[in-house]
Amino acid sequence: MTHSESDRTDPLAQPEQPSPASGRKAPVPKQKKPGPYHVPPRAQRHGLVIVNTGNGKGKTTAALGVLLRATGRGMRAGMFQFVKSLTTGGEHRAATRLGVEIVSLGDGCTLGQPDTADDAALARAGWAKVCELIVSGEYDVLILDELTLPIKWGWIDSAEVIATLASRPIGTHVVITGRYASQELIDAADLVTEMDVIKHPLREQKVHAQAGVDV
Ligand code: ATP
Ligand code: MG
Repeated sequence: MTHSESDRTDPLAQPEQPSPASGRKAPVPKQKKPGPYHVPPRAQRHGLVIVNTGNGKGKTTAALGVLLRATGRGMRAGMFQFVKSLTTGGEHRAATRLGVEIVSLGDGCTLGQPDTADDAALARAGWAKVCELIVSGEYDVLILDELTLPIKWGWIDSAEVIATLASRPIGTHVVITGRYASQELIDAADLVTEMDVIKHPLREQKVHAQAGVDV
């Protein structure tokens, strides 16, 4: 009986090599082993300011993708979360396992509803800390999650943020996420993506945030 495609039980298996007419075994193609990761030295990198903004879902998720990639490349990467206070989300748990920093700088005031003066003070203290880290050159990649919000609310000075970004060490990538990115920030960025809502389960189906997808 001849072997046909449909006889194979694993649909992802490699198709069997037909036996050569000589009866000798068909040569097995060499598998290329992955070499050591190569990240160019700072001076040869084009450090980017990346902004993920807009009303659709995916801004923080996309930034976490960068955190994962950079970590995989052996780069020092960290995420600093303005406004948020949660430290037990899926991303925080995964970061602990990977040995990556995700640091919450806020106390969790409701997005879109700035409240007490304490939130402003916390955001400013968080910014002072992050500012030092940006200029120190300790990080290859810094993710400033939801930084656009304290800027919009007037807690952190937009011009100061832009000046700090401009003075960062060569080759440093900075990712900023959050709704309502200011025009000044957009102008200062190299890569800007606007997430748009086409459908969202909360809006159309009243399905709230779910573990593993949103938190
Ligand atoms: P995510 O962290 O899931 O990538 P995001 O960073 O783009 O989302 P945020 O503005 O930080 O969005 O809001 C975070 C939470 O709000 C998430 O639970 C997300 O599912 C939810 N969310 C985002 N966009 C919308 C929307 N347009 N309508 C309702 N809920 C939304
Ligand atoms: Mg977000």
